[in-house]
Amino acid sequence: MIDFEIPTPIERQMQLLGMLGEQVMRPIARYYDEHEGERPWEYINMIWQTVRAQGGRTLAAGDEKSSSGEKKPRIGNLIMVHTVEALSWGDAGLYLSTPGGALGGAAVEATGTPEQKERFLKRFGEGEPKWGAMAMTEPQAGSDTASIRTNARLTDDGKYWILNGEKIFVTSGLMAAKESPGFVVVWATIDPTAGRAGMKPFVVESGTPGMTVAKLEHKHGIRASDTAAIVFQDCRIPFDNILGSAEVARPTAGEGAPKGFKGAMKTFDATRPAVAAGALGITRATLEFTAKYLKDRGVKVRYGVPLHQQTAIERDLLHMEAQHRASWLLVLRAAAKMDAGEENTLEASMCKVKAGAVANAVAQKAVELLGPEGYSCKLLVEKWMRDARINDIYEGTGQINRLVVARRLLGYSSKELR
Ligand SMILES: Cc1cc2nc3c(=O)[nH]c(=O)nc-3n(C[C@H](O)[C@H](O)[C@H](O)COP(=O)(O)OP(=O)(O)OC[C@H]3O[C@@H](n4cnc5c(N)ncnc54)[C@H](O)[C@@H]3O)c2cc1C
Repeated sequence: MIDFEIPTPIERQMQLLGMLGEQVMRPIARYYDEHEGERPWEYINMIWQTVRAQGGRTLAAGDEKSSSGEKKPRIGNLIMVHTVEALSWGDAGLYLSTPGGALGGAAVEATGTPEQKERFLKRFGEGEPKWGAMAMTEPQAGSDTASIRTNARLTDDGKYWILNGEKIFVTSGLMAAKESPGFVVVWATIDPTAGRAGMKPFVVESGTPGMTVAKLEHKHGIRASDTAAIVFQDCRIPFDNILGSAEVARPTAGEGAPKGFKGAMKTFDATRPAVAAGALGITRATLEFTAKYLKDRGVKVRYGVPLHQQTAIERDLLHMEAQHRASWLLVLRAAAKMDAGEENTLEASMCKVKAGAVANAVAQKAVELLGPEGYSCKLLVEKWMRDARINDIYEGTGQINRLVVARRLLGYSSKELR
């Protein structure tokens, strides 16, 4: 049985994050939307201090022990999705600027050895704020991740990897590559003849010579967060920074995804529920605001009346609420399966598709229901509509995640259904 109940200390943490969202993030959300390129240091420092006061972790994860020493079920991913939802409710762009391992940390968690997890992840909670980022996308390789050209070559003495290539649209790429003692997990091929089997993740520490932030994107939404293009030119990193094994295991006929690519899929299984939770935060913010705005203007939603007696607005709001609830349940299921150590590829893609589509639909509808005020910059609703859009693009677009869902449900391989 899956128990979605949140233990009391975590509920208290969510209340704290709710206050942070309301009192720190919301008041500065518009400023950083309008001043893209300025880093929100007041928020970053505030959240970093809060995290450190709580023991130096952005998220509690892993096994927990009760006072009697008995092992309690893992709930780290359940906590993670609640945390991301709560912070995105405050502001999605600022949430993406929150120090922590982020997608880079998830990639290390999914593909690293125990020693690498200790080496690279322990730092998030010590000293100054730090960021992790993950760089997969390239100018010619977005949805088709197997087309990446960034390559890693082993030096003759076998001690170093030399990375060459270009990555684009890296969330927090500037912070992770340049501004903090963080890292970027870079996906590169070590054997272009091996296709997806040759794809491997590498940790490139910030400030490594040969890694250059070439450009920052000017964006439609989540403008408080930096999105960078990063160039690797003869970038030399220690051999041990390849996550997992350097072995290229070509799949035999009928074996499914090759090992190298399984690491990428495992990373997406972990990150898609997190991205979906971010979409949920925007959806809840929009829903709560819209319901209150309309209530203050005399629109009362009657629950439980038959469909033919509902007003058009009641019907819209009830539909929005139902879609929001459905998304939440899918996200919780994907996270709970991960905590239980079960494969969650289907659930991760399903919740990402649903939550991304719902965030977009709810925000569009809210702008419509609120009339000209909804479209004006007086309110944050038009911003939430822009912020929602990315959730259907990164970590696999809506179409790509629908393909993953269809393959899993119908039993097709990626070669058979693409
Ligand atoms: C703000 C932002 C932040 C990002 N952050 C990161 C990051 O941190 N790390 C990272 O690696 N990447 C990141 N990305 C990149 C993102 O993951 C890609 O943009 C996304 O995977 C889509 O790739 P693409 O842009 O090349 O589009 P394409 O792959 O060219 O797709 C274009 C359109 O075609 C559709 N399409 C493509 N293939 C198929 C198919 N087989 N069937 C049906 N439809 C298809 C897509 O759904 C899309 O609508 C970010 C992007 C943005 C905008």
